[in-house]
Amino acid sequence: MGKVRIFRVLGVLGFLLFIIVLLNSKGNYQRASASLNLDQAIGLSSFPIIEPTLKYGFVMDYYHAVEDVIKENEFLADILLRHNVPYEKIHKLAAATKDSLDVRTLRANKSYTLLNVDTTTAPDYFIYEPSPYKFRVYDLNDPSKSKEVKRKVDKVEKMASGIIESSLWNTMINNGLDYDLTTRMEDALAWSVDFHHIQKGDQFKLIYEEDHIEGEVVGIGDLIGAYFKNNDHEYFAIYFENERHNGFFDLEGRSMKRAFLKSPVKFSRISSSFGRRFHPILKKRKMHLGTDYAAPKGTPILAVADGVVSKRAFTRNNGRYVKIKHSGNISTQYLHMSKFNSKVKKGSHVKQGQVIGYVGKTGLATGNHVCFRFWKDGKQINHLKQNLPPPDPMPEAELPRYYAVRDSIKNILDSIDFDLSVLSQEVAQKVEDEQNEKSNP
Ligand SMILES: [Zn+2]
Repeated sequence: MGKVRIFRVLGVLGFLLFIIVLLNSKGNYQRASASLNLDQAIGLSSFPIIEPTLKYGFVMDYYHAVEDVIKENEFLADILLRHNVPYEKIHKLAAATKDSLDVRTLRANKSYTLLNVDTTTAPDYFIYEPSPYKFRVYDLNDPSKSKEVKRKVDKVEKMASGIIESSLWNTMINNGLDYDLTTRMEDALAWSVDFHHIQKGDQFKLIYEEDHIEGEVVGIGDLIGAYFKNNDHEYFAIYFENERHNGFFDLEGRSMKRAFLKSPVKFSRISSSFGRRFHPILKKRKMHLGTDYAAPKGTPILAVADGVVSKRAFTRNNGRYVKIKHSGNISTQYLHMSKFNSKVKKGSHVKQGQVIGYVGKTGLATGNHVCFRFWKDGKQINHLKQNLPPPDPMPEAELPRYYAVRDSIKNILDSIDFDLSVLSQEVAQKVEDEQNEKSNP
């Protein structure tokens, strides 16, 4: 009798085990297929030979992976709790990583991957990928082993050129170039070229680094050299660094940086110049004592030079505005902001290029723009008419080394051609005439 009972108990246990295995494998299959596409799902049923897939330093075949994107207002805790990671573990992870890999720095719309060794338990790893350049591995079982890994970037030297027909944007698109190159070009030449007055027929040539990771282009790296020609003025910016300097220099070895930026906003257009004009709100002719730069609401407004904030206020006409005192009895003022940079207050020291606020239309303004005012010796003047002296060249002893670098970069820039096929006949003809004139003067 005893034996029979034992067999019956074993039989029941066996049946239960069978049910558990069945339910569990079904669960596995559904969860696994959720992250596979149709082709791969079909492939699974025919049991192909799987080559190990390496990702984030893991052999992915040993793990069950869930890939997703962080949603707006979603915190790491929300994601992990949803995947059955107990709150205590999440708390330990956050505490252990707060100095180096703070989980509060995770951002919406970035991808993440959860890895499980065993699908019946909670995930073992949370991998966050803020950009193709790096990823973070959070170890949920041993948070102290969490780390950030920077991927190896291969720099590939590239060349680009273009002739402006309508806008810089269109020129980039027509020549199949990455728009990020515009930013690089502006960074190098912003002190010399007024990018708000770009004209039809202006030309540029660039040498730059393209970033490759595992054979894929992931972005634009550093600019090495730039050439810009407008109104028969030629500008060169050559990147150079030694123990004492780094940055862009002109052909004489003077830093491209000037004490004042040409404008307080990037990628904007001048919507109203300094001088007499018909005021759109007051409906009468009035002296306009500033230069208006139209840009979308929220565009960062930059301090054009180092200085100290002398005013941060709101008035009926100016709206939210900031005034900065610079050396040489010069002040600059930025009007109609939608928002201040909360960290920049009266008395704050600001650096050239630092964000002080954001474009808006507070005060007396019809559209989103920044009214930029330049004060010298207490009087408002047109900053675009100021001829501020260029800085001194680097010390003479360093010049030979610089000239060697300059010559090699300039030779490459000189050799870059333009793609005339993307231009209108009129502009293409003009460029060809110029080139012929150069070769047989
Ligand atoms: Zn204005």
